[in-house]
Amino acid sequence: MMNKRYLVALDQGTTSSRAVVFTLEGHMVTSAAQEFPQHYPHPGWVEHDPADILSTTQIEALRTAVRKAEIDPNEIAAIGITNQRETTFLWERETGACLYNAIVWQCRRTAPIIEKLMADGYGDVIRQKTGLVPDAYFAGSKIKWLLDELNLRERAKKGEICFGTVDSFLAWHLVEGHPHVTDATNAGRTMLFNLHTQQWDEELLSILDIPREILPEVVDTAHVVGMLREDLLGARIPVAALVGDQHAALFGQACFTEGDVKNTYGTGCFMLMNAGHEFRLSQCGLLTTMAWRLNGVPTFAFEGSVFMAGATIQWLRDEMHLISSAAESEPVAASVSDTGGVYLVPAFTGLGAPYWNMYTRGTLVGMTRGTGRAHIVRAALESIAYQSRDLFSAMAQDCGQPSAALRVDGGASANKLLMQFQADLLGVPVLRPAVLETTALGAALLAGLAVGIYKDLKETASGWHVADSFKPQMDEARREELLTGWHRAVDGALHWAESNK
Ligand code: ADP
Repeated sequence: MMNKRYLVALDQGTTSSRAVVFTLEGHMVTSAAQEFPQHYPHPGWVEHDPADILSTTQIEALRTAVRKAEIDPNEIAAIGITNQRETTFLWERETGACLYNAIVWQCRRTAPIIEKLMADGYGDVIRQKTGLVPDAYFAGSKIKWLLDELNLRERAKKGEICFGTVDSFLAWHLVEGHPHVTDATNAGRTMLFNLHTQQWDEELLSILDIPREILPEVVDTAHVVGMLREDLLGARIPVAALVGDQHAALFGQACFTEGDVKNTYGTGCFMLMNAGHEFRLSQCGLLTTMAWRLNGVPTFAFEGSVFMAGATIQWLRDEMHLISSAAESEPVAASVSDTGGVYLVPAFTGLGAPYWNMYTRGTLVGMTRGTGRAHIVRAALESIAYQSRDLFSAMAQDCGQPSAALRVDGGASANKLLMQFQADLLGVPVLRPAVLETTALGAALLAGLAVGIYKDLKETASGWHVADSFKPQMDEARREELLTGWHRAVDGALHWAESNK
């Protein structure tokens, strides 16, 4: 280990593939990213070409990042892979050839399969075993659709077909000997993995008519799955972590203690809270999911998401033309001291937890003759904080007490006004770390843990530093007044949905 000085993360996302080189202390050295095309063969369908994910992007990003870092690949201690979750691949075991494009998590084509499962009364057993609310988003219904559509069930039973999420697919292609593996965080997003037993579940497999033979082996999140193919970088490097992106971010934010919570402010927001080692179902519409599994021991998380977060700011820019860049939202919002009673509920695609109403639509309320552009921009920005606050309090309710702080990352966490308003609404500090690439960092740290660079979680956490801390400044009465207004606005949007069904 003497000459090992770096860790590398491959972050295979929905729109781009990235590679990031870190020092062992968790400082970022370089990164490289490549976008790849999205395919929309029908309305609501989303696919990726597996060849894009593999060659033009992931391998290219890896090589570019390492070249830019000007390091000897032999100095890389380990590589961690983190990925867009739920996106589904099927390939031939014999040749590795993919049998269809990857069906992307966002794809809605399997909604009828889910409706049928619910009508047949399977919702509860799925929720109890997997912690998930059945949805087309998860891999299970996508696998069923592929097996049906391509008439592959007989071949699948004979063991000729492999299923994998992005982590499996990359491990198969990038690691010597083609291991067919996935980790527990990714397995947990299939709707086939029993979180209690930490095994694929026979009953769930039979509900979806999926032969067990196609499934990868489920390994720990920090685990050496094999050595990187030598032709890729000219060195044999352990691939030592597979982890879904949101779980990687939770790890990269050092949320190692039960109750620690992070929120990623991107297109949408993803909030995850470390929920300890005991499986519990949320009473507030959150998902229960794996945080990670280390040395065979599962840690669970509660997860909730905001559909329209940074996307609301894009809408202000691209559709309403109220701002010319996302960053401009901050000075424009800051030009007024409050929204003057205006609330925007950006339920453009419905509302998720804790409301779960797919029929709601965007609503702007409370305007007066004096309402102007700045008030509306501010209301849009504040809506991100209100929605996140609703998730935060759902988590507090589920775990019995609010977290002491919220750790933040993602593109929109750059907005100081938003972060300060978030702290004011939560009544606890909002902590923004020095390294905002928490997803990549988490994958790199997990890989470092697997190869013994760090002896325990405490050592991996030593790289996590708060760069900015936003402390709550708003008085209680004002906070309550604002929250009451927000919840009235949400009620209005939900009421509108009643006649929208
Ligand atoms: P993703 O990974 O989902 O593509 P990013 O983490 O890159 O998202 O964040 C980009 C999102 O953040 C965009 O939706 C953009 O509108 C929003 N955003 C970026 N900078 C700011 C800012 N300064 N203020 C508010 N929103 C911002």
